[in-house]
Amino acid sequence: MKKKLIAGNWKMNGSSASNEALLQALLAGSANWQCQVAVCVPAPYLAQVQRLVAGSGIELGAQDVSQHGAGAFTGEVSADMLKDFGTRYCLVGHSERRQYHGETDAVVVAKAQRALAAGITPVVCVGETLAEREAGRTEEVVKRQLAAAIHTIGHCISEIVVAYEPVWAIGTGKTASPEEAQQVHAVLRAQLRAATEHADRVHILYGGSMNAANAAQLLAQADIDGGLVGGASLKAIDFLSIIAAAH
Ligand code: PEP
Repeated sequence: MKKKLIAGNWKMNGSSASNEALLQALLAGSANWQCQVAVCVPAPYLAQVQRLVAGSGIELGAQDVSQHGAGAFTGEVSADMLKDFGTRYCLVGHSERRQYHGETDAVVVAKAQRALAAGITPVVCVGETLAEREAGRTEEVVKRQLAAAIHTIGHCISEIVVAYEPVWAIGTGKTASPEEAQQVHAVLRAQLRAATEHADRVHILYGGSMNAANAAQLLAQADIDGGLVGGASLKAIDFLSIIAAAH
């Protein structure tokens, strides 16, 4: 059975000093981890975090990647650059990127392809807004988002990680109930099964106000293979509790 994956998304938070303190506290608590752990850090800190986690049980992740390979794209960071710093995972299509930067499904899958080509595992984020959920469109929306990735990535789809993050649960303190989350994860698993015989290898993470109190119940669901954790990944004690719940 595959190990669960707990990935922290630091978003636009941190400083050299606070990153070091957080990682030292996590590493001090890392002796008996039963799951895979990653931290997705702001790009300027990739080198620092690469150095601090070298040889440990924590893997390095980025939060975004350019859809382009190289060239005149001021401010962008390419997949090859991320790889240069030992990046193992890269979030693509986080709802904050879709919402504030207008990223479409086509852009998101182009980013996922760039990551894969560089040997980085894209964590493809999908999820419905509150209005979409209330209109009964949750399945349609997440299936459309995942279908875009399946269509473009083809048989390599088993090389990605999927993160189901209901937009209404991100940073709001509202969590999907374990049953609500499992229902959507099962839909995503079925869609992956129709696309690849290796669907069960794919980690499908839940994200959206996961915390020390609700992690165990969410992670106990059949198709929840880990968590993508925002706010609670910034506090070592909370992130360590979530990691401890993942076995
Ligand atoms: C996220 O940013 O991916 C996330 C799930 O945030 P939070 O845990 O704070 O809701």
